[in-house]
Amino acid sequence: MRIPIIAGNWKMNNTIKEGIELIEEIKKSKLNKDVESVICVPYTMLKDAKVAVKETNIKLGAQNMHYEENGAFTGEISPLMLKEIGVDYVIIGHSERREYFKETDEDINKKIKTALTHNIKPILCVGESLEERESNIQEKIVNDQIEKALKDVNASKLENIVIAYEPIWAIGTGKTASSDDANEMLVSIRKKIKSLYDEKSSEVIRLQYGGSVKPNNIEELMSKSDVDGALVGGASLKADDFIKLLNF
Ligand code: PEP
Repeated sequence: MRIPIIAGNWKMNNTIKEGIELIEEIKKSKLNKDVESVICVPYTMLKDAKVAVKETNIKLGAQNMHYEENGAFTGEISPLMLKEIGVDYVIIGHSERREYFKETDEDINKKIKTALTHNIKPILCVGESLEERESNIQEKIVNDQIEKALKDVNASKLENIVIAYEPIWAIGTGKTASSDDANEMLVSIRKKIKSLYDEKSSEVIRLQYGGSVKPNNIEELMSKSDVDGALVGGASLKADDFIKLLNF
């Protein structure tokens, strides 16, 4: 059985003080134990956030990392550094990193493999642009991203990988893919995993939808056959909204 997973991506928001206040608000509510809750915070507050989530079921995630363990990569953070803090998850290949920081599929593949080597679970982001969706090539685009990201990744690792399907046109725009469209893409991703690996692998890997997920659409999305969770940007910055999402 796949455990539902709701992850918040705070992006470049919140000082340490603001972030800890937000975590404390979330901690005050009774969270559904059957849902895995993850918060992906900026690097600067990972250590404090780790202390704040201690003795809760909330898991901690980073939003990126380098694929090397150390070296001359000014400004980068390595998997060893994340591991030292006790980070459970790391977002890899978010569309903002692909677009603004020119991350390639090859970089993403290296990051996925390094994260797995260090027992940090990657949340791999994939998704098509508006233009690609309008040309009806979204399945090809996403399947291609997945094949490249998972190159040389062993089937035994798939239970530790989450794939977040995030159509770029739905991120931070208020436009959500309909629950049927989102599910259709996740069904297609599962089919792709089956063709790259096998049936068992396609059944264990968890698939999220991301793109303007809010309290008013989470229930409908989560009712779909292949939606195992959500990756949430904007709504994860508001305690009330995020609590509603975690308790969908
Ligand atoms: C995201 O950035 O991963 C995201 C889904 O953002 P939002 O929920 O704000 O659309």
